[in-house]
Amino acid sequence: MASTIVWLRDDLRLDDNPALAVAASSPEKMTVVYVLDEASPGIRPLGGAARWWLHHSLSALSAELESKGSRLLLRRGAAAPAIRELANETAAGTILWNRRYGLPERTLDAGLKEWATGEGIEATSFQANLLFEPWTVRTGSGGPYKVFTPFWRSCLAGAEPRLPVDAPQRLPEPAAGPSGAPPAGDSLDSWGLLPHRPDWSGGLADTWAPGEQGASQRLEDFLDGPVEEYGTGRDVPGVEGTSRLSPHLRFGEISPFRIWHALRERFPRNAPADVGIFRSELGWREFCWQLLYENPGLATENYRREFDRFPWQTPSDAELEAWQQGRTGYPLVDAGMRQLWQTGWMHNRVRMAAASFLVKNLLADWRLGEAWFWDTLVDADAASNPANWQWVAGSGADASPYFRIFNPVTQSKKFDAGGRYLRGYIPELSGLDDKRIHEPWKDPEAASGYPEPLVGLQESRERALDTYQRLKAL
Ligand code: FAD
Repeated sequence: MASTIVWLRDDLRLDDNPALAVAASSPEKMTVVYVLDEASPGIRPLGGAARWWLHHSLSALSAELESKGSRLLLRRGAAAPAIRELANETAAGTILWNRRYGLPERTLDAGLKEWATGEGIEATSFQANLLFEPWTVRTGSGGPYKVFTPFWRSCLAGAEPRLPVDAPQRLPEPAAGPSGAPPAGDSLDSWGLLPHRPDWSGGLADTWAPGEQGASQRLEDFLDGPVEEYGTGRDVPGVEGTSRLSPHLRFGEISPFRIWHALRERFPRNAPADVGIFRSELGWREFCWQLLYENPGLATENYRREFDRFPWQTPSDAELEAWQQGRTGYPLVDAGMRQLWQTGWMHNRVRMAAASFLVKNLLADWRLGEAWFWDTLVDADAASNPANWQWVAGSGADASPYFRIFNPVTQSKKFDAGGRYLRGYIPELSGLDDKRIHEPWKDPEAASGYPEPLVGLQESRERALDTYQRLKAL
């Protein structure tokens, strides 16, 4: 009998995994494979923090699959030849996968589908990782939306996202290769995804539980409390007021359909406004993916082409390092950059302030910041990262206007009034009271060991506004 291949990519879960569910309901033997593809044209290699996450996520997935009678096959290399080879080895009659939306990935998948069809192999893809696929959300004139609010309104006006599919109880046994045994794969350790010398991942391991179980626990914890105060809690970096689901969503360890319907079940009627606000954040994720789908160069090209003439200043190595290492002299920016380094994640409000500082106060090209976040975020996402960087820079869709320059002192006084977040990441400031902690240069003795401000806020703000005015005049 022919066998089935389930090719997992950004969907490292058993729950609500349509490709896996279809294979599980078939009498055919099954090969579940993950291909570490750093070789196909245009595929963006993962950054360091995401590689750490991937290692642990695959390890958790492998254990889940084994507990249900299956196993995870690991292969490395360009994905298309790897899958073709595997199909030959296992005499596959069917290949199933869940869809991806970046151009290099779509091109690869389309090529493979064409090959499979020519070989008489059925290749079917499913919607699993976005609630609303980009080509289904269109303006009245048939184009893509460029502004979030009407985009999201249009999504909500359509059919409710489908119900999630439960994880299969049992999985088909692994298909055999030509020798009669299941095909051989790589060992996860041989991929070298974890950092060595130095191993900087201790803070990540203390903070996160990669894998499907970790993801559903995060969702439960969020629904049990923070969601009901999300509207205000989400802006306070010193409390856990947000879901922290982003890395789990990034690797597909939890389905957005599962999250959507968990909210429905928890709040069957009269949901607080906070639930709608949280849903609209999921909407921003969808919007970012629609932007990448329409603009495949989102991580390298200005969405608004007039920014091609923007005279970004190349920061000195010392300036860039001060930003990366959390030593700018502005506590909110520094706490955020240290949180990022230690845990692989940064609170959204602080991401905005830290990014604004780089592109406006230092006038550095947003691509420098995007690349650093790509390397250090556990949730580094091919759509959300560039879309948000461009939003902050003013070069993006529905972007924050260029003249909106986050003031890190005002922001920290407003959203971290008691200094809880700042103290958590900047021990040098522990001797300062709640008022002084936001402006440590006013009390240099108590803030010893903490750097002086890298640039003056007022002058650098004026320089940014002048530069922008000149761009407009060109
Ligand atoms: P919650 O507030 O609980 O939101 C729930 C989910 O909604 C998130 O997990 C995420 O999937 C989605 N979401 C929330 N805000 C946004 C947003 N602004 N854009 C897109 N999706 C959103 N998010 C990433 O997932 N990956 C990135 O690489 C990324 N890079 C960013 C870079 C910058 C400069 C900025 C300003 C924001 C970036 N974000 C990114 C968006 C946002 O900061 C994170 O999604 C959020 O902080 C994740 O925390 P959470 O899961 O607790 O979010």
